[in-house]
Amino acid sequence: MTVDYKIQYSNRKTLNISVERDRSVVVRAPKNLSLDKIEEIVQSKGNWINEKINHIQKYPIDLKAKEFVSGESLLYLGRHYQLLIVDKDFNGVRFNQNFSISKSNQENANELFKEWYLKKALEKIKPLAKKYSANLGVNYNKCKTSEMKYRWASCTPKNNILFNWRIIKAPVYVLEYLVAHELTHLIEPNHTPEFWNIVSIQVANYEKAKKWLKEKGYLLEIDF
Ligand SMILES: [Zn+2]
Repeated sequence: MTVDYKIQYSNRKTLNISVERDRSVVVRAPKNLSLDKIEEIVQSKGNWINEKINHIQKYPIDLKAKEFVSGESLLYLGRHYQLLIVDKDFNGVRFNQNFSISKSNQENANELFKEWYLKKALEKIKPLAKKYSANLGVNYNKCKTSEMKYRWASCTPKNNILFNWRIIKAPVYVLEYLVAHELTHLIEPNHTPEFWNIVSIQVANYEKAKKWLKEKGYLLEIDF
């Protein structure tokens, strides 16, 4: 197979190939690398590139970054809410059956929403961590949200439980499952039948939550 691609020269020292959301292939190359050499490297990675392209096709195409204009919708606790850009001046994000931000903040919308989501993620997750740790009779050290990109949650050897702040986009039953899952690891580190047995006692519809995560995994790669 042959690969169509676009070359971007830069001051970088190594060649980098990426498959973009729109499935185009971009090659970022050092300035002095010849076209022949680039062609050779790209074609030698043909299988890898093809796999990437097919992988992206599994996902919805409308994954482009938010522009933060009126009428867009943002996902929060499993539901889409409309965004309104209003003339009135105020700080941050307001939420009341829809999202609103001040027009004067439109340019910083990305940061404002991230701040808001991070705060909400902790607000929702912390009580769940308390509840499930009490149920399970385990003690965790710290419960935090973090900027992980390819995982929903993890627990560390020091018994800290970490959650990807983007899980706040998921329905509450998914949050419950993720928290119970990580805390169950404090009893059973591996995904053994015993592990799943414990999880199922804590969260009856955990299969539904797992299914949601499987279908929406791509949400990990975008912020909102
Ligand atoms: Zn696990």
